[in-house]
Amino acid sequence: MADETETYDLSREQELRIEVGHGQLVQVILQDGTAEIFGTEIAKGASVKLPGGKHALFTWSGASVDVKGVYEECYVASETPMVEYVNISSVLDERRNVAKSDSTKEMNGPRVALVGPTDVGKSTLCKLLCNYAVRKGWSPLFVDLDLGQNNIGPPSTIGAVQVDRALDATDGFVNLTDLPLVYFHGDTSPGNNPDLYKHLVEKLSTMVDQRGNTNPDSRSSGLVLNTMGWVDGAGYKLLLHALDAFKITDVLVVGQDKLHAGLARDFRGKTQFATKTPVQVWQVKKSGGVVERSPQFRRQTREAVIKSYFYGADGELSPSSTSIEFGKVSIFKIGSGPRAPSSALPIGQKTSADPLRVTTVAPSMALLNSVLAVSHGKTTGEIPNTNVAGFIFVTEVDMVNKKLTYMSPTGGGLPSRNLITGTLKWIET
Ligand code: ATP
Ligand code: MN
Repeated sequence: MADETETYDLSREQELRIEVGHGQLVQVILQDGTAEIFGTEIAKGASVKLPGGKHALFTWSGASVDVKGVYEECYVASETPMVEYVNISSVLDERRNVAKSDSTKEMNGPRVALVGPTDVGKSTLCKLLCNYAVRKGWSPLFVDLDLGQNNIGPPSTIGAVQVDRALDATDGFVNLTDLPLVYFHGDTSPGNNPDLYKHLVEKLSTMVDQRGNTNPDSRSSGLVLNTMGWVDGAGYKLLLHALDAFKITDVLVVGQDKLHAGLARDFRGKTQFATKTPVQVWQVKKSGGVVERSPQFRRQTREAVIKSYFYGADGELSPSSTSIEFGKVSIFKIGSGPRAPSSALPIGQKTSADPLRVTTVAPSMALLNSVLAVSHGKTTGEIPNTNVAGFIFVTEVDMVNKKLTYMSPTGGGLPSRNLITGTLKWIET
């Protein structure tokens, strides 16, 4: 709690867990020994800033760590599943080696998916597995299909990025060389337009395959796929669709026996790729450090992610404000909003809404505070099929002078005049 520096001495394989509230900041300094944050090694003497969130600093060999700042919780844990996690990582490395030395080029590296209900540590394990692969010289592709808490793009997106160096301990996937490939769904949950979600998942997987075909390194490194925490009913169907679209070879189920049993049953006898290797469904231990996050904490996290998109994680970007005439941009919406359940329609009549239909949105006050995607799509037809260049948010709609004012992270003109709106809003605080 206090603002003074406290020193924690960790023995081998212990973990220091720190819960920082939104708006709080903690600094940790490794004074002695070795330590890593979800697989990212931290340098001795360097100050690592931990923003609002739940963090853990693990040591394989022992460490002395200084902690300074305001936090909600800070304690040392001796029980962690880290040994199990490195073992998994070694098995995957072995498969990468096999793929790399295969002269027929038919073998692919492991395509691993992390699945499980909310708050089991899926996203954290993705980071860890990517980092451990990078530390062994691989550069896996990280794919995040979680619209709610995406680690690559802002909320309401799915994306992929090649991880060619250890992730930043606090900024995560932001500071990589590769430019992320991002698709905009428009909603923080796929429920209102699951068909659009499936469509975008397929688009992303096709792009990922094309890259794998041209880049041998990425082919043998394989991929790490993060999925959403909605795992029953329609969510389970979307999950199966995603695992199939990405030709997943290994499903890592975290923290739910029922889900593991269901997936093991559904994948029994299934093989992946020309190699005819059976899809493996693993059961993975949930870390005791994983903290349940309230809907409010999740909302705050989403807001923090949007803020750091525009301002940078350390406020290093200075977004500029631009006014533009309504006529200079086209604003589109994909899908026709929530569909009436088929039970509400006369028997035999299908819902007429086309989930991929693109409609033009006339500028109105409803756009105020909207986060809009800037599409690479050049025609209406291309809008639902194309990745996005970036995002802007609308700070003012002037109906009298027919102008809107927006902020963009880099300032200046838009790379495209085609914008997509969804339900994503952000109010600057
Ligand atoms: P969601 O379903 O919301 O996507 P998830 O399954 O991806 O959740 P994570 O986001 O990985 O779960 O973990 C939940 C929270 O617990 C995160 O804030 C993460 O930083 C934290 N966490 C994970 N592992 C640990 C740990 N060992 N010690 C402390 N905090 C941890
Ligand atoms: Mn997650």
